[in-house]
Amino acid sequence: MIVLRQLLLLLLVLTLSNGARAQTTSPSKQPDFPFDSTTSLAARVHPPTATVLQLFRDAGMAPTEHSLTAAEQSKVAAAFAALPPLHQRILGSHLRSISFLDNMPNTALTSTVNPGEAHQLFDISFRAEILSQDVSEWLTWKEATCFDTTQSSLRVAIQAGHLNAFLYVLLHEATHVVDGALGITPNSALPAGAFLIDSLATNFVKGSWAGHSTVAAAYKSSLLDGIAFRRGGQLLSVTKAKEAYRALEKTPFVSLYGRNSWNEDLAEYLTVYHFTQKLKQPFTITIRDGNQNVYAYQPMKSRLVSRRFKYMSQFYRTS
Ligand SMILES: [Zn+2]
Repeated sequence: MIVLRQLLLLLLVLTLSNGARAQTTSPSKQPDFPFDSTTSLAARVHPPTATVLQLFRDAGMAPTEHSLTAAEQSKVAAAFAALPPLHQRILGSHLRSISFLDNMPNTALTSTVNPGEAHQLFDISFRAEILSQDVSEWLTWKEATCFDTTQSSLRVAIQAGHLNAFLYVLLHEATHVVDGALGITPNSALPAGAFLIDSLATNFVKGSWAGHSTVAAAYKSSLLDGIAFRRGGQLLSVTKAKEAYRALEKTPFVSLYGRNSWNEDLAEYLTVYHFTQKLKQPFTITIRDGNQNVYAYQPMKSRLVSRRFKYMSQFYRTS
């Protein structure tokens, strides 16, 4: 199990980038500041580590530390308080720090602090701009990075209410931390032989996935395999957006991004589940032509998607 977790964690440096491809980073060698489990989660804001800053510099970018205002600190505290119970417990013992950056090219970056050690620690860096965006604004921007709109008046949007975008992104990234710390989803391949009976990994992954980033045969779509969220994917003409979402409708995945890999599937699914079922927010993907809606899809109303609700219960156990 430990080896499996180590391998998983190397795969587990995750982003919701503007091109929205997962990034990998070289793990830092040694923690450059200590982990303090007695500090509240919202008080773990720390300057970005040298490792994270170097990662961006190596890619030709120069994000800078963002100091939180009092109002922003309140948003951070509110978001941590809104996380499911399992997230709060696991982050309490595995999240070393969070940091905020200006001019960060992607939305968030979760990195391992001490790969190879039995008790994994994580840092998460966030683009500070998301603290001033609402979740619909941010999700619509992110979804638009898949589509070429130059030849059409069609536009894709996601209505997910007006809670702070940081809560959505924190839920997503924190789910990766929970996944990594508990080894929920498999490493890179379905284990040979029997899965654990009634494990979340078995129930959530099996049937939906043939491999880490290969969907099960029943949900194959060459159109969806070629979108910009996928490694090597390309912008899709927005005139094909309806066709793409019709293909998504035939799958158990809650979003285009969730179809990237089983790690992203779990993170997206838990996040949208929490927003819709616990926080009572909408989640509707629409295509508009001017002021007119020409397509709408609510993934959580889909039977294929909602029949996975039952696997979310373990995130809400209070002990
Ligand atoms: Zn992710």
